[in-house]
Amino acid sequence: MSDPRYVQKGFGLKAQIRDLLQTDYHSRVVDALRERGHRLEVGDVEFRLAQEFGFCYGVDRAVDLAYETRKHFPDKTIYLTNEIIHNPFVNKRLVELGVRFLGADGWSTADVTAEDVVILPAFGVTTAQLDELKAKGCVLVDTTCGSVMNVWRRVRQYAKDGLTSLIHGKYAHEETQATASQALAHGGHYLVVRDEAEAQLACDVIQGAAGALAPEAFVERFRRASSPGFDPRVHLERVGVANQTTMLSTESLAIAGMVERAMTARWGDEVGVRFRSFDTICSATQDRQDAMLALGQTGGLDLIVVIGGYNSSNTINLAALGGTFAPSFHIDGPDEIRSADEIHHQPPGAKGRVLQRGWLPAGRVVVGLTAGASTPNRTVGEVIERICEVRGLDLGAIVPGAGRPLPLALG
Ligand code: SF4
Repeated sequence: MSDPRYVQKGFGLKAQIRDLLQTDYHSRVVDALRERGHRLEVGDVEFRLAQEFGFCYGVDRAVDLAYETRKHFPDKTIYLTNEIIHNPFVNKRLVELGVRFLGADGWSTADVTAEDVVILPAFGVTTAQLDELKAKGCVLVDTTCGSVMNVWRRVRQYAKDGLTSLIHGKYAHEETQATASQALAHGGHYLVVRDEAEAQLACDVIQGAAGALAPEAFVERFRRASSPGFDPRVHLERVGVANQTTMLSTESLAIAGMVERAMTARWGDEVGVRFRSFDTICSATQDRQDAMLALGQTGGLDLIVVIGGYNSSNTINLAALGGTFAPSFHIDGPDEIRSADEIHHQPPGAKGRVLQRGWLPAGRVVVGLTAGASTPNRTVGEVIERICEVRGLDLGAIVPGAGRPLPLALG
């Protein structure tokens, strides 16, 4: 019999939460764009929306589960371990529905009792955090995405087979921390590399290249991004490559190729038993990156607006891709657009937002649009509405009913 304190499949309340989800996340403007082949002309502004954008299957499921949990336990204290997904609107909405954040000031389960409910996010938690929560005896609602668990399976197998997991990801990202913990929990080691430059440092050590970092320097360089006791002389002799599901897929593939070449140069025919690789970019991330490329390749874009949380890895990568075609503005919502002249945005490759002037050219303009996997359609629609508003255009004449719906309560 399944443990009633560990829930992964919901509470059978989809029909009861449908209207609320529709109000919170749906957009008539986005529907209108879809009906018109992802293009919409409003006055002298043409919007072109990527074919794949916004909520992915993993986020859809996580949000559904969170709403079902609130509905199923109207009187219980419900916690989220941290952001359920990297989107400020969704997290704020959950707080409005009475869900509290456990990790607001760093990880602490001190307030959790056996009477409470804790929701685990789409990117999962570490094995140590899960053990700690299970020991509390509370109900756990696990929204970890199946694509993330697929990476965990790969990493566990690497550990069992004596391979170090070389993970292309950001070591501070919740998903990568959770993935790395799976290697540790199964007796393995890990090394997290953020980009090709960091992967090259590992490749130099593997090949014994002139100029490779000395072991002590290597350990210091990757102190926060490697397993305890990591020794590059030992733990880079057998390597399995995996990646955070939301990285730039071209970079993940390039890194896998670099490591394979380095292992082949070092070990020759033994590479077959010393090296393994699986592309663990999730299909939703891949589809959104492909759609961004296709949108850019249509040509004629004057600028691209990429919508999503500033800490959303897949959105950051979409903004970087977009920036190869036209000026790319990563914003987390409509309020970042101050006027037709001023916008707050996070430039591709930068950390943190800046205020930029002159972002929206006068006269006829073609605006490309996409959104990260954790961005609701509602936010995409509101950004389009805001652009029309600052340009003095009447979107309502083209899309009747455009406008922000008021949030409902979960009755
Ligand atoms: S981006 Fe991919 S891995 Fe992350 S929640 Fe969505 S489908 Fe799952």
